[in-house]
Amino acid sequence: MTTPLLAIDRLSKTYTTGSSILSSGRTVIKAVDAVSFTIDYGETLGLVGESGCGKSTLGRCVTRLLDVTSGTITLAGTDITHQRGASLRETRADLQMIFQDPYASLNPRRRVRDIVAEPLIVHHRGNHRAVRAAVTGLIADVGLRPEHLDRFPHEFSGGQRQRVGIARALALSPKLIIADEPVSALDVSVQAQIINLLTDLKRTRNIAMLFIAHDLGVVRQIADRVAVMYLGTIIELGATEQVLTSPAHPYTEALISAVPTATPVAGRRRITLAGDPPSPSNPPGGCPFHPRCGYATEVCKTTKPSLAVQPDGRLTACFHPRPV
Ligand code: ADP
Ligand code: MG
Repeated sequence: MTTPLLAIDRLSKTYTTGSSILSSGRTVIKAVDAVSFTIDYGETLGLVGESGCGKSTLGRCVTRLLDVTSGTITLAGTDITHQRGASLRETRADLQMIFQDPYASLNPRRRVRDIVAEPLIVHHRGNHRAVRAAVTGLIADVGLRPEHLDRFPHEFSGGQRQRVGIARALALSPKLIIADEPVSALDVSVQAQIINLLTDLKRTRNIAMLFIAHDLGVVRQIADRVAVMYLGTIIELGATEQVLTSPAHPYTEALISAVPTATPVAGRRRITLAGDPPSPSNPPGGCPFHPRCGYATEVCKTTKPSLAVQPDGRLTACFHPRPV
């Protein structure tokens, strides 16, 4: 067996918020709770789940923008969980992030040319001329034109700004890109263009991706496998086709039925997710999904199901998985 590019093992991240005038005592939020998965070289893993389930926290732990509470992160065979200083800087070149809001993540006072050049300069990738040539190439690769180089972020549309963010993320030829809801802030027509661009780039450059989204429709095209997250844990993980066409976990089933489709699948009932997800500071006992689940029985209230292999190889954490 070959080593995967990324291996996350029982990664947990707990936030502790201080007491305030309105609440006494500290609140502990298990934003990510013992999550494990791998990503192979060149593979895209989609990570989906409702807002607040811990996707961004997980992504930020993987890129080491946040320190983990426990667990390990291994990149290309190296344990990067507690890296600091020069070794962390080296790792960062292999591990880039694309954010939901490219406007907030691009310095408004710098021209596109300098924004895209910055990582190359910081990491000493060539002289002035080489950097200039690399930036021109990157801008073309993401579908922008040379005249865009001298503009400022505010002169662009949302989709164009996200292209700049992608060019910057590509500059150091990373092995893995963490894309945190890169299209959620964009119009639907523009979403498709950016997903097409990322799909092309992953193919031509063999870059692996952790592609975070809050709905399954967005990951359908780009992800090789999909992990579904609920209240800090992964509740289903399998090949995109498997998970999207025959979800085994009732939560995945509900998420899919919420995605509008042009051709409704015969026999599939539309399931609505009642209520908001429970608070991660006070998660329900047993299966975290049981209070919202139409199939829940007694065991679901008392025992937390662990991820188990289903007949088709996918992993599902449920006592009553749908037949696959
Ligand atoms: P998602 O990206 O899936 O919407 P997040 O990772 O942003 O989820 O948040 C997961 C949980 O952690 C949420 O309940 C959120 O309120 C909480 N959280 C996120 N960041 C912080 C923080 N800096 N301090 C305290 N709680 C946080
Ligand atoms: Mg988020």
